[in-house]
Formats: sequence, C-alpha cells, structure tokens
Amino acid sequence: RSPVPSDMAIGTAQAQALKPIAQLVRELGLAEREASAYGRYAAKIDPAAVLARKPMADASSAVASPRYVVVTGISPTPLGEGKSTVTVGLAQALYAHVGRAAFACVRQPSQGPTFGIKGGAAGGGYAQVAPMTAMNLHLTGDIHAIAAANNLVAAAVDARRFHEATQTDAQLLARLCPRGAIAPSMRRRLRRLNIDCDTAPADLSPADVARFVRLDIDPDRIVWRRVLDTNDRFLREITIGQAPTERGMARTAAFDIAVASEIMAVLALTTSLVDMRARLARMVVAFSRAKEPITCDDLGLTGALTVLMKDALSPTLLQTLEGSPVLVHAGPFANIAHGNSSVIADQVALALAGPVGLVVTEAGFGADIGFEKFVNIKCRASGLVPDAAVIVATVRALKMHGGGPDVVPGRPLPAAYAREDLPLLERGFANLRRHIENVRATGLPAIVAINVFASDSQAELDLVRDLARAAGAYDAIPTNLWAKGGAGAIELANAVIKCCDAPPPSPSSPEFLSPSFRFLYDAALPIKDKIEAIAKQVYRAASVSYSEEAERNIQQFTDNGWAALPICMAKTQYSFTADPTLKGAPEGFDLPIREVRASLGAGFIYPLCGAMQTLPGLPTRPCFYDIDIDTETGEIVGLF
Ligand code: ADP
Repeated sequence: RSPVPSDMAIGTAQAQALKPIAQLVRELGLAEREASAYGRYAAKIDPAAVLARKPMADASSAVASPRYVVVTGISPTPLGEGKSTVTVGLAQALYAHVGRAAFACVRQPSQGPTFGIKGGAAGGGYAQVAPMTAMNLHLTGDIHAIAAANNLVAAAVDARRFHEATQTDAQLLARLCPRGAIAPSMRRRLRRLNIDCDTAPADLSPADVARFVRLDIDPDRIVWRRVLDTNDRFLREITIGQAPTERGMARTAAFDIAVASEIMAVLALTTSLVDMRARLARMVVAFSRAKEPITCDDLGLTGALTVLMKDALSPTLLQTLEGSPVLVHAGPFANIAHGNSSVIADQVALALAGPVGLVVTEAGFGADIGFEKFVNIKCRASGLVPDAAVIVATVRALKMHGGGPDVVPGRPLPAAYAREDLPLLERGFANLRRHIENVRATGLPAIVAINVFASDSQAELDLVRDLARAAGAYDAIPTNLWAKGGAGAIELANAVIKCCDAPPPSPSSPEFLSPSFRFLYDAALPIKDKIEAIAKQVYRAASVSYSEEAERNIQQFTDNGWAALPICMAKTQYSFTADPTLKGAPEGFDLPIREVRASLGAGFIYPLCGAMQTLPGLPTRPCFYDIDIDTETGEIVGLF
C-alpha cells in the first residue's frame, strides 16, 4: 500500500534517465585514459592517473579543501535502518538540491547477503545507486578477483605441502629452479634465509638446499582459509584431500565469505599498486614445524596475486538516481572484517570533489564496529582526517532496542512499531546515546539522520531530536530520502555543511568538541591493552576473557614482533556485547575472545568475539526465491 514502488521498480523505471557513463566521466573532468568504460553505465577509474594529476587537497587545511563525512549507524536490527539509503540520498541532496560537488563512496555488495537474508546494498526507494542490478550483482568482478587470488594462495599451500612430502631435496631444487637458474622471486627467499647465493643453485650446500626448498608447512598451523561469495554454511569446516591421488594427506580446512578475505582488506586499505604488492607479499598463510611464519612471497605468489588484483585496484564509477557520482570499491563486512570502502576510492573522490565539494563515505553496521574501524584502522592507514560523522537511526529500531518485540520473517510487523510509544522509544534511545558518545570521543561532531518511516509520529521525531541534542549530537534531523530522494534530505545536507564549516567551538562553551580528531588507542600498545580499550571504552564491557587458544595466539604474535598493529574486532553487529540478542546499551558484561588471527598484509590483529561466524548461512526462505529474469525483456526482478 506504500506509494513508493519497490527498490527494483524504481531502479528499473529510472534507468532510462541515467546518464551514459561517458557523460558522467566528462562532467567530472576525467581525461580519457583515466576512465575505462565497463558497459554503458559503469567505468573503472585509474587511481594512479587521477592522483598523479590531481593530488588530494591537504585535509588538515581548514579552508578550500573538500569535506570528508562518514556515515554510520545505531546497532542494526532486523528492521533495517537505511544506512546505505542515507549515504546515497545525502550525496543526492548535496549535489542536486544544494549545488555542491558530492561523491558517495560505498562498498560493493556481497552476493552472500544479496541472495541470502539481507538483500543488496544499493540504498532504497528514491535514494539508490544505479543501475542497482549492476551494483548488486557481479559489477566489475572485483570480488571474483579477490576469491580467485585468495584460492590460488590456498591451492599453493596444500600443493606445496604435497610436493615436499613426496620429493627429495634434490628433486625439489631441480623443479623449483629449472635449468639451474634461481628466479628473482626465489632470490628474495634466499635473502630472507640469509643464504649467500644469488644465481647458481649448484653452489648451495646440502643443508642450505634443504632450508631453501622446504617450507616444512605444519598442517595443523595452516591459517589461510578458502573463500567463496555464497552463504554456504556447510563449508565452515570440511575435510580436503580425500582423493587417493592426495596419498592420505587429508586435513580439516575451512571457508570464509569472500569479503572477509585478507585480500579484500588489503584492497580496501592499500594506497597504490606498489603498496598492494608489498601487502600481498607479506600475508602470512601458515607456520612451519619450527613455528616460522610462511608468507605468500615464500610461496612465490607475489607477482601472480598482484596480477590477479590489478584491475580491482581501480574503483568503479556509477551514479545515483539523481546523477551524482558514486565510487564503489572493496566490500568487507564490518562484523567480521573492517567494513569500510577503500582508502583509494576516498582519495580519488577527495581529489575530484574540488575545494567546496563533499565526500560521503559509508562505514558498515553500527558505530561500535564499522565507525570504530573507520577511525582506528582506515584513517590510521590513510592519514585522512574526517570532518563529521552522520549516525543513522530510525524510530522503530530504537523501539526495538528499548525492548520492542522481535520480528518474525514473513509475518506482519508487530503493532508496537506502528503506534506512538514515547516511553519505549526513550528506553531504546540508550543505544543511540552511546553511539553519539563514542563518535564524540574521537573528536568528531555527530549529526543524527533520522530515517523517517510512514509510521513515525511527529512527537516521536521530536523526542529523538531533543534527546540527541541533549546527548551531545550537533543536531538530529528527520530525513525522507527513501520517499523523496535528495529532496527529502535538504535540511540534513545543509546541517552537514554547516557543521563541517563551523569553526571549532571555544573550550569554554558547553558545546565544546575537541577540534583534534584522535584515535582510541596507540597502536604501539600491547595487543590485550588495545582489545581492552575497544571493549571497555566503546562497547562498555566490564571485562575481557580469553580462551586458551586466544592466549596462545596473542603470545605467539607478540613473540613474532607483530603486536604493534591496530585491532579489527570480529563481533556481532546486533549488540555492543558478543551476544546478538542483547539490544539497547548493556553494561557490566564480559567480552569473550575465542581466537585471534593476524593479518600481516592488511596490517591488523583480528580477534573473534564469542560465537561469531566468518561464513554466513542461508535462512529457510532466502532472497533468491524472489530473484528472476523476464526472459522476453531481459529485465531482472526481485532484487532489493
Ligand atoms: P542498511 O544500509 O542500514 O542495511 P539500507 O539502506 O540497505 O539499510 O535499507 C534497507 C532496506 O530498507 C531497503 O530495501 C530500503 O528500500 C528500505 N528502506 C530504507 N529506508 C526506508 C524508509 N524510510 N521507509 C521504508 N523503507 C525504507
């Protein structure tokens, strides 16, 4: 009964009005060699070419540099909060209604949720990235490239183990160094082993040959996992190598969703081809029986992985329904990965946006995870300083945080969400209050965007606005993006501009926000101190407990000299705790850490909290039931 048609219907109807990508490329002043069209409505943007011509404005200079705004949200609920909708719609409002150059930087949707439970991630209603079918399906193949590169590593690890088990040192040397020559990639390994031999393997002593040709991978310490972009729960733990050709070398292995691959994190955090190559080289895939780390470079993979990932380094340019530019790049989930689009896309957007432009970038899930990682991992890696954070909230989700009933898929929404209930809303506001406090603790101003649903009453919207202002938000503004597109967020767009341009308030003012943007922790601290800083200051846990395995992992990483990396917590998005059922703003809980992984290429330590899974499953009735194609017209239906 809604007057707003489905996301798919809007996307399809408006597709006729989209600009050809060549036109958008011209409007952005891109030279021909800086953009390669990929079909009629998408283009790959060459970041090196753009950044060589147009270096980013100095983000620290107060005037004449584009504004950098991050969109985050309250803890998500099954009701959907509309974070992508607000990210896209805010860019539409800035561009089409306020007259500013505005880029939206968003993540590429994973096919896991698109065909699983959550649907796509192109925004919704009249605030969408277009074409939404391209956005939600394969796009320009970056996620496929990641899966290909990731699984090449996995194949290389097990194949190497097999060959080492079945050949003598001399046979291995002859095969690894055909015609008696040592390839440059293998010379790097010799140098790491401090073996003084550059060219002729014949000069090596037998002991050095053994050290050189045998990685001696410990099958119980292979940490690299296979990936695929499908929610296939039965691959969470499997046995591989059961064919007789593998001669009894079967072992237990595991799959993750492709967007949780370390290679995705590398793509999202890298700044250039040279940097990406170096990161791919140092990814640790296993440990030897002597407990030495084994890297992709030890396996001779560095060049091949960089080749597979070369095109993925270029962000994909699409547009919003109102014709403003969107850069789609990288796509890690914020619960099991760092959950932000790429540093490179933000840099390109900041270079192209011009002195009075704005770049609106999205951080996944709630501000406790996506935004925390935006600050402490992404900004630490990029050196970029944001100007403001927008926190997306809805009245109905806050009611759920206040104790409103659960929703059952396929059943009508409980009446509690359709009628005014100020006490319930006020109780649930505790969740938003904590996110506002956490954003403000970084020194950034927080602007709340209330994504309005038809069932919200004026009194409810006023209550959220009053409570948010009292909690320290710069403002809280109802937006109607879903129903009206950019026209529904003009007030939000103006507030964002005003907030970014406002001189920092004086320290004596009650509204004082520290003008200095700051990280939550010093990366040089011990691993446990950093985990505890996040757990206690952001989540408000009383304590952190570690499994025996987590203790062992932390000790080993510290002994290896890897402790000075930032932390990427894998935690449920639904709660500040590790228990997805605890909504609102719990306090005094324990945060259990079951395992800790090290991502040396991405450059973070990756603790897993509670039962968090790194490969989602499919529900009883996945989204794929509704996805189809009209074979007459070729039109795709059922995506949202
Ligand atoms: P998130 O990024 O928080 O997961 P999305 O922006 O992807 O949320 O929106 C989730 C779904 O909710 C989309 O299908 C969108 O069309 C719908 N939606 C968003 N905002 C509204 C609204 N104000 N009214 C009705 N539906 C909405």
